[in-house]
Amino acid sequence: MSRLIAIDGPSGSGKSTTAKLLARRLGLGYLDTGAMYRAATTEYLRRYPDGGAGQAEIVDVVATCELVAETSPDSPSFRINGTDVTEEIREPRISAAVSTLATILEVRRLLTERMRGIIEEHDRDIVVEGRDITTVVAPDADVRVLLVADPEARVARRAAEVAGKASAAEVTDQVLRRDRDDSTVSNFTDAAEGVTVIDSTFLAPDEVVERIVELLLHR
Ligand code: C5P
Repeated sequence: MSRLIAIDGPSGSGKSTTAKLLARRLGLGYLDTGAMYRAATTEYLRRYPDGGAGQAEIVDVVATCELVAETSPDSPSFRINGTDVTEEIREPRISAAVSTLATILEVRRLLTERMRGIIEEHDRDIVVEGRDITTVVAPDADVRVLLVADPEARVARRAAEVAGKASAAEVTDQVLRRDRDDSTVSNFTDAAEGVTVIDSTFLAPDEVVERIVELLLHR
């Protein structure tokens, strides 16, 4: 029986932490789809350092880049056109630009295809997290979870993650403005039918993992 687990939610809801812990605990692969959008953004900014390319140019960057995802939960990494961008994709300039790509429907279609390819390569034994996994990428997943948390908790978590690498204004932008932009193309605030909502505001990562394991056992 396959164990395809889809987790969606806004920035700072705890998706990555939960998904990694869960994949490690169950011996599954782990795919951070936000990192795929980030990797594509890195390549876009390499080709167009001042930004400002039209949609057609941006789609061409995504369509022609070679994106390789290493899906071990212990050392997830991403390479684009042969360059390891695992660190670079977390830079504030990438966080600031990523929604530009993510709001282009053709970019989403291209990356969704690659995500589905990776899921099949894992024989559907993988934890996949993002914004539209439960609804668009893998609506047929074995377990589908929407992870939510209060905005204050989400901003505080992101601030702790990027400690020293981003200003308070950048962190707020990374969380709240980005969610606003992203929500124009994906609905990650309301759970679709069959999707379980877990509020992580007052839960430790292990407790969230425990609830998802329960859902898998009782699917
Ligand atoms: O999860 P993370 O914050 O790293 O995601 C980076 C960006 O990638 C999001 O702000 C969003 O624009 C985009 N994204 C998306 N759909 C996904 C995952 C991420 O649009 N499934």
